[in-house]
Amino acid sequence: MTTKKTSVIGFPRIGKARELKFASEKFFKGEISKADLQKTAAEIRQYGWQKQKAAGIDFIPSNDFSFYDNVLDTVFLLGAVPARYKELGLSKLETYFAAAHGYQGAKGDVKALPMKKWFNTNYHYIVPELDDSTELAVADNVKPLREYNEAKAAGVHTVPSLVGPYTFLRLARYNGKKNAAHFAASAANAYLDLVERLSAAGAEWIALAEPALVFDVSEEEKRLFKSIYAFLLEQVHAKTSAKILLQTYFGDIRDVYEDVASLGFDGIGLDFVEGLKSLELVKGGFPKNAILFAGVVNGKNIWRANYAQKNAILAEIGKVVDASRVVVGTSCSLLHVPYTVAAEQKLPAETLKHFAFAEEKIVELAEIAGGDASALEKNKTLFATARVSENAAVQSALASLSDADFARSPSRAERRNIQVAEFNLPAYPTTTIGSFPQTAEVRANRAAFKKGEITREQYVAFNQKKIAECIALQESIGLDVIVHGEFERNDMVEYFGTQIDGFIFTQNAWVQSYGTRCVKPPVVWGDIHRSKPITVEWSVFAQQQTSKPVKGMLTGPVTILNWSFPREDISLKTQAQQIGLAIRDEVLDLEKNGIKIIQIDEAALREKLPLRKTDWHKEYLDWAIPAFRLVHAKVKPETQIHTHMCYSEFNDIVRDIDSMDADVITFEASRSDLKLLDALNDARFETQVGPGVYDIHSPRVPSVDEIVNTIRKIIDKVPQENVWVNPDCGLKTRGETETTASLRNLVAAAKQLRAGA
Ligand code: ZN
Repeated sequence: MTTKKTSVIGFPRIGKARELKFASEKFFKGEISKADLQKTAAEIRQYGWQKQKAAGIDFIPSNDFSFYDNVLDTVFLLGAVPARYKELGLSKLETYFAAAHGYQGAKGDVKALPMKKWFNTNYHYIVPELDDSTELAVADNVKPLREYNEAKAAGVHTVPSLVGPYTFLRLARYNGKKNAAHFAASAANAYLDLVERLSAAGAEWIALAEPALVFDVSEEEKRLFKSIYAFLLEQVHAKTSAKILLQTYFGDIRDVYEDVASLGFDGIGLDFVEGLKSLELVKGGFPKNAILFAGVVNGKNIWRANYAQKNAILAEIGKVVDASRVVVGTSCSLLHVPYTVAAEQKLPAETLKHFAFAEEKIVELAEIAGGDASALEKNKTLFATARVSENAAVQSALASLSDADFARSPSRAERRNIQVAEFNLPAYPTTTIGSFPQTAEVRANRAAFKKGEITREQYVAFNQKKIAECIALQESIGLDVIVHGEFERNDMVEYFGTQIDGFIFTQNAWVQSYGTRCVKPPVVWGDIHRSKPITVEWSVFAQQQTSKPVKGMLTGPVTILNWSFPREDISLKTQAQQIGLAIRDEVLDLEKNGIKIIQIDEAALREKLPLRKTDWHKEYLDWAIPAFRLVHAKVKPETQIHTHMCYSEFNDIVRDIDSMDADVITFEASRSDLKLLDALNDARFETQVGPGVYDIHSPRVPSVDEIVNTIRKIIDKVPQENVWVNPDCGLKTRGETETTASLRNLVAAAKQLRAGA
């Protein structure tokens, strides 16, 4: 096998010990200077470059660093900063942070730019905002140039990596009359200017990341893409010696592949991990003079690559593209994985040998590209032995599932009558989403227990006191369906992960979620199994405190899976079913112990919806929705099942949500324009609904009138007997004072409507 070159799309940038997060926080508190913050940033960049250089990576990116987000960097790069931030008259870096977090101070009061999920990852980007006065142009001394020069000075020749013009315009929001097409020419010119300058500084290759090409691409969008790049490529090739790499990831580019192939790119980066059709597309033909950057090492998951499998893909590619024109790369930026397995000291070596984080992945790239025979042998041995002992009981439970396990009976309408008699709730029943304010005391109790500073009895006694107080409070407020308050939980996924067999937890495997904020997802390691009840003790105690129904509170299988690192040796569907069976055991135990209403949160159900509509059902909903039904299909007709979602953008999957067959769904709605209500109406949505009637993201207390008005808007569209009244989710992040005041107004509003006011 001939040796190939290697390429990395992006490297983690938070710092191995999250130095950027801590330095940024200190900077905002005024504890360190701007120079100190910049020094930390420079060290983080240097670390990544040197690691990649040492691993022998040929195409090392620069400009993949960011103080907050690369799309926000692009806003600043292209001079597209909305006027309200510039008008604050702050320094450049402060203006940047004002757009990222908002600014409230001596110079003004502006909110942050909105944030959105970055494709199908748990990372969030800042949404650019363009208005009719925006002029795209590149200023002097810009970040990509500075960082290219910085690397060069350190002896590393990098590939400046930029969010491409098409993706930038595709993700932007347009506040005026102009749309993306109006900005196409100025964007193309701005990028040309930038490429010329980077080329003059010595850059040989420049990568333009265009992940937006993996969405469904409309004819109009295709025209936009072609018009930008036909111009840009022609000019770049005429005026410079720079080579342009079109880098795509998070899927395949089936809608534009032919155009991409004929436009004259010097390099084309395709994703062979998530790109279901990438191989097929390449086999249909690849441009003679272009280099294929083949993303074969998964940039999103934490497992070792299976070299034999990767070699097989490369061999297929080799049938069409000469080996000298194939570069072995990551499927996407390594931003989505932690730094290094070496930082894990607590997990056994037998487990850790299956892990590959960013620093291990770059070694894998080199080993695969180099055709290293001994590395291949070692890798084969790793994959030849069973990774974990499988759980035969779980596997046979899965194998014996039949249609009946996924279908609740009797029908929703029949259950409805039974439940009306069972609960005798008033019209506009009131409830909350589950958590109550988590005070410092609550967190301290959990932390003390975790560290072994207090006994289990002390820990439980404290939480029981909190539960009793929380229930007394809810009764005094007059809520109809009570919650226990979730004082025992830090995080809705981690809490269940730590108590179900099959999950493992790392010490340091942080990945960026937004800005410098990181999450440490649980890892699905083995077959999932619940060996003992998890929440029953708390829920039973809570129910003993009141004659009103208390909701049992669980997290659903799809959300648990979506917020974890999944296995790669078995399908997502199988993993969702395994988790589903574990949560089903908990549901049935709650029911057996007298809990009559059970809420199964699917906060993240929408998150992993495939990027292409045509893949939605086949690749995702067809297993995700049944996994939820599996959890509750066996309960008695009088047991009421609730679910909750943290968003209201499910217009396009309304029918799928209805077919989860819950009795009630609550969702976050107050910040949306309630457009969903029309969709619910059109779909004749059967599930009872509780759209959040006030925003909990600020301490503001909504008035009774305000809430009455919101509910009126809801009953304009949804049959009144299907409407529940509740706030948005997230009360745990609020203070006690405003929570109590707001909920009192919420109950008063429901009562006013019941009285026919
Ligand atoms: Zn929520």
